[in-house]
Amino acid sequence: MSGSYDPGMGGSAWIAAAMLLPLLAACGAVGTSPAPVAGPSPAGGWRVVVLGIAQDGGMPHIGCAKDPCAAAARGGRRAEKVACLGITDGRRAWLVDATPDLPAQVRAMGVRAPDGVFLTHAHVGHYLGLAFLGKEALGARGVPVYATARMGEFLRRNAPWSRLVEEGRIDVRDNASVDLGGVRVSSFAVPHRDELSDTVGYRIDGPARSVLWIPDIDAWERWDRDLRAEVSGVHHAFLDATFFSGDEMPGRDMRQVPHPLATETMERLAGLGDRVWLVHLNHTNPLLDEPARAEALGFHVAREGLVLPLE
Ligand SMILES: [Zn+2]
Ligand SMILES: [Zn+2]
Repeated sequence: MSGSYDPGMGGSAWIAAAMLLPLLAACGAVGTSPAPVAGPSPAGGWRVVVLGIAQDGGMPHIGCAKDPCAAAARGGRRAEKVACLGITDGRRAWLVDATPDLPAQVRAMGVRAPDGVFLTHAHVGHYLGLAFLGKEALGARGVPVYATARMGEFLRRNAPWSRLVEEGRIDVRDNASVDLGGVRVSSFAVPHRDELSDTVGYRIDGPARSVLWIPDIDAWERWDRDLRAEVSGVHHAFLDATFFSGDEMPGRDMRQVPHPLATETMERLAGLGDRVWLVHLNHTNPLLDEPARAEALGFHVAREGLVLPLE
C-alpha cells in the first residue's frame, strides 16, 4: 500500500503526538525485538516464521496518538513490525518482502544476511528494506532478490535501488517459480493499484505443507482465481486484513486504498477459518488488540514469532 493510512487526527492531538513520540523513542520504549525465533537448528527442518504483521506503516504508526499506537509508543504494548514471512530450513533463511524492519527481521531469523528475498510489490512496506543490503548498512554481496519483470525493471532503473544492482549487492531474478532445494516458492499476480510495479502473492510448497502469502490485494472479486479454492488448496493462508470494517477511517475515502475488509474475507471463507491467518493489519484495525473478534468465527490473527512447519 501507499498513502497515509491515518483516520485523521485533530491538530492538538497531532502536536502532542509529535512532541511525545521522540521522547518515548529516546527512552528506549519503542522497537525492542524478541530473541531469534528461527536460526540455525539442525532439528528444525523446513518452516515458515511470521516476522511482522502490520500494514506498511507499522505500529505505532507515524503521526498517530491513539491506541494501540499510543500504548506501543509508551511501551505498554508490543510494537508490531511490518508484515513479513521468513522461510528457513534451520540453516538458511529467506524473506518474503523487504520491510523497513528488515534488520530486526533478519536478526530474528538467526542469520547475518538473508539467503534471498521474495518481493511482492513496490509499496514502501514491501521493498524499502532492500536499502539495508547496501554499502551504508550490510554491504551484502549478490543476495538473490526474486521479483516480477516489472518490479525488476523498477529496481534496475531507479536510484537508489539501481546502485544495489550495479554494485552487486543484490541479484535480481525471476520469481515465477523458485526451488530452494526442498521447498518451491511460486508467484501469482494479484490486482493491487500497481502504481510503480505489478503485485504478486506467493505460494510456498514444502515437503508436506503449503502456505499462501497475500498481504495486499484490492478485492477478492477482482482476482482471476477463486479465493475459496486457493485457500482450500493449502494448509495455511496468510491474507490481507488491512482493515476490519468500513468505518475504520472516518474522514478518509477508503476507495482510495482498496482492500477487502476482514469481515468480508471471513464471510467468504466460512468453514475454512482454521487455515486462515489474517495479516497486514493497519494500525486502526481492532484485531490488533482484539483477535478474539476473528477467533470467535474460527479464524486466526497472525502474530510475530509464529512458526508453522512445512514438513
Ligand atoms: Zn501495497
Ligand atoms: Zn502493504
